[in-house]
Amino acid sequence: MRILVFNAGSSSLKFGVFDRARGAGHETTQILKGSFERFRDGACAYSLEVGSHTEGGQIDHADIAAAIEAVPQLLADHDIKGIEAVGHRIAHGGPDFAAPATLDGPALAKVEALTPLAPLHNPANLQAVRVARRVWPDLPQVGVFDTSFHLSNPPRVHTYAVPQAWRDAGLRRFGFHGTSHKYVAERAAEALGRPLAELKIISVHLGNGASVCAISLGKSLESSMGLTPLEGLVMGTRSGDVDPGAFGYLNRQLGLSIAEIEEALNKDSGLKGLTGSADMRDVEERAAQGDPAAQMAINLYAHRVRKYIGAYAAGMGGVDAVVFTGGIGENSPSMRRRICDGLDFMGLHVDFDRNQQVRLKDRAAPQIQSYGSRVAVLVTETAEQLQIAREVAAYLDRPMARAVPIPVAVSGRHVHLAEDSLKALFGPGYELTVKKPLRQPGNWAAEERVTLVGPKGQIEHVAILGPLRKRTQIEVSRTDSFALGIDVPVRDSGQLDGTPKIRLVGPHGQIDTDGLIVASRHVHMHPDDAAAMGLEDGQNVAVRIGQGDRALTFGHTLIRVQPNAFTEMHIDTDEANAAGIGPDWEGEVIDLEAHLDAV
Ligand code: ADP
Repeated sequence: MRILVFNAGSSSLKFGVFDRARGAGHETTQILKGSFERFRDGACAYSLEVGSHTEGGQIDHADIAAAIEAVPQLLADHDIKGIEAVGHRIAHGGPDFAAPATLDGPALAKVEALTPLAPLHNPANLQAVRVARRVWPDLPQVGVFDTSFHLSNPPRVHTYAVPQAWRDAGLRRFGFHGTSHKYVAERAAEALGRPLAELKIISVHLGNGASVCAISLGKSLESSMGLTPLEGLVMGTRSGDVDPGAFGYLNRQLGLSIAEIEEALNKDSGLKGLTGSADMRDVEERAAQGDPAAQMAINLYAHRVRKYIGAYAAGMGGVDAVVFTGGIGENSPSMRRRICDGLDFMGLHVDFDRNQQVRLKDRAAPQIQSYGSRVAVLVTETAEQLQIAREVAAYLDRPMARAVPIPVAVSGRHVHLAEDSLKALFGPGYELTVKKPLRQPGNWAAEERVTLVGPKGQIEHVAILGPLRKRTQIEVSRTDSFALGIDVPVRDSGQLDGTPKIRLVGPHGQIDTDGLIVASRHVHMHPDDAAAMGLEDGQNVAVRIGQGDRALTFGHTLIRVQPNAFTEMHIDTDEANAAGIGPDWEGEVIDLEAHLDAV
């Protein structure tokens, strides 16, 4: 599939053409890369790379619209034919766009409505879409949203502690640079030769805009930008974190209006506000020549990033890799050093020579930690256009699941025991008594019960499910977690590293063991059913349960294909209660969340 990608900013247009191979691996390669910027007096600067051919200079395009209109001729000049879709970067997708979407009239109206949340970005993105729809009326125009990746952030991360009425009006954290953070995390996992789903990664994107993202086991847990791209790090012209009390103070002391304060926080702050220049190269140059304002700006910039890395390591309960990207992250060895030098305490050490010698050609992702550093440190170029092309292709290629009814089973709280736990709780040589078989072949409920004890309360008579497993796993609902008084993460079964401890009490003794989770909802699938529905193991889907007014759609539902599985969706008691689901209900897979796993 051949895809044209546009990334339109307020004053520049980057674009690329990508070929996505069909079949295994889905390798995506860039065949053209171009940009138009510095529009002035009816002309602009342009650069173009096609294979080994490069060109650049001034060209007569008055604005971004004119530049886009000239792209068909430009492609024809380089004999590039057969574009099948146009992909667009859209900065703010709000709470609704969790995946790429076709930019038809209703979708564009939604994006337009989000403009107040990204006033610098969304209008430029939308203008590019409108022009592209005119120029290529017969091609699908697909939006990939900077915010989508972060919609997996839990409520504790995306909620501001403000009055209910404000939250009802839509005030919440979103996070941006999602396409970049996702690409960088996948690239880092590839470079480390480990599955992304097993890693805790902190992605540090330092360009004109800048943000840090904690990616826990493949999902964005938190990022430093918030409702708008203003929160978080010090940026080229944006302040990053500022006490919101500043608004009242500046209004009273300087008589500034809200609009004036916002404008200054977005356009005259950050490096520019501190030094007069928004460009880190200038700032580093001036600092080296002794300019105290530039020196302070560099220290402040690095301190803020380091603070976020420490916070996100704590938020994830550890970190395996820190990855630098963006113009500053990729090109400034001294900034990388300044940020990392304070992090020895958490086992992160940068190697002097490796950090100096970073070369990033051909998607390289060199590691720059010193020998023995527990945390890996990588540098890689971000490739937002490439990632957009991948996501557009995966979206257009997604198998349309055929609706087949799936029985829904409600799992009460239960425990899977490992051999050593059984021994400690019930005594040496003890064997569980099978009470009744479960629908998943080979699984059964035992006669025996255990008690869960937490710092706030205890839950008695908790079911034990057999057979024994390698690791003890305790599955409770979120409501149970508050009854116990423990913060319990939502995890897929078996993903137990870093999970909290709970005390289990049996007739023979008690143990304190980790393995306490709220199980992610999932669908067990027989391979034949998966094939019939066009689904694969590991994909996430949306499942609709119920009809009419009572219909409820569960997103982020994991498909688990296992030989001999009895096809059945598992939800917990909280989910069942929320939806008023009773026995013998059925669900229907209605969509594939292509952005999550298919790319
Ligand atoms: P954008 O976010 O607009 O894509 P970039 O990712 O290109 O921007 O980052 C631009 C920033 O990177 C600028 O502050 C620029 O000064 C900085 N930068 C680029 N090269 C270097 C370098 N060699 N040393 C320090 N900073 C650099």
